[in-house]
Amino acid sequence: MHRLDTLLKNNRDWADRVKAENPDFFSRLVKQQKPEYLWIGCSDSRVPANQIVDLLPGELFVHRNVANLVVHTDLNCLSVMQYAVDVLQVKHIIVCGHYGCGGVNSMLQKSRQGLIDNWLCHISDVYRKHEPILTRLESEALRGDRLCELNVLEQVTNICQTTILRDAWQRKQEISVHGWVYDIHDGYIRDLRINIDNHDEFDTVYRQALERIAARIDRTVDTIS
Ligand code: ZN
Repeated sequence: MHRLDTLLKNNRDWADRVKAENPDFFSRLVKQQKPEYLWIGCSDSRVPANQIVDLLPGELFVHRNVANLVVHTDLNCLSVMQYAVDVLQVKHIIVCGHYGCGGVNSMLQKSRQGLIDNWLCHISDVYRKHEPILTRLESEALRGDRLCELNVLEQVTNICQTTILRDAWQRKQEISVHGWVYDIHDGYIRDLRINIDNHDEFDTVYRQALERIAARIDRTVDTIS
């Protein structure tokens, strides 16, 4: 048997099951997609976007890359965002990181993986920016968890600073940017309470989120010492 036959069979079974439950499901989707959400997440196979928020095809516009980065010169990510905001008119952009992220950890462990190390330099930038608070943690695992959160915060920042979002907010388009972290240990999403509805809110939300992460680090250090 060809080794991909299982996947093709799975696909036929899935499509048949969906049609049995909802006969006009595909004919309705063919006409248009009108998702309310843009998901920017990690490529990690343990974090499948639609599945963990239990949304159907057509409900989530998705961009994934290693370590859920939003780089200002990444034409791929910017194009997804521009299309989602200007054309699809999504109402929410969610950056969802995850604990145990291989991209974040490999930067912390300074392990060499090849070309991807250049991409992960963006994680090093986040680390360096927040090094004074992160190095308070002796445990590499805890440092990795907080770095995953700080990385989400910085990627939300990057989104808010694009011309795409600034222009959308200027023309009073209703759109908000959110920061989450998914926990691969239990399947739950942790809401970092980063919700930005307009450019004026940005500084306050950023500062408050940073204070919460720093306070959590303080509590951990106090408990251990
Ligand atoms: Zn990851």
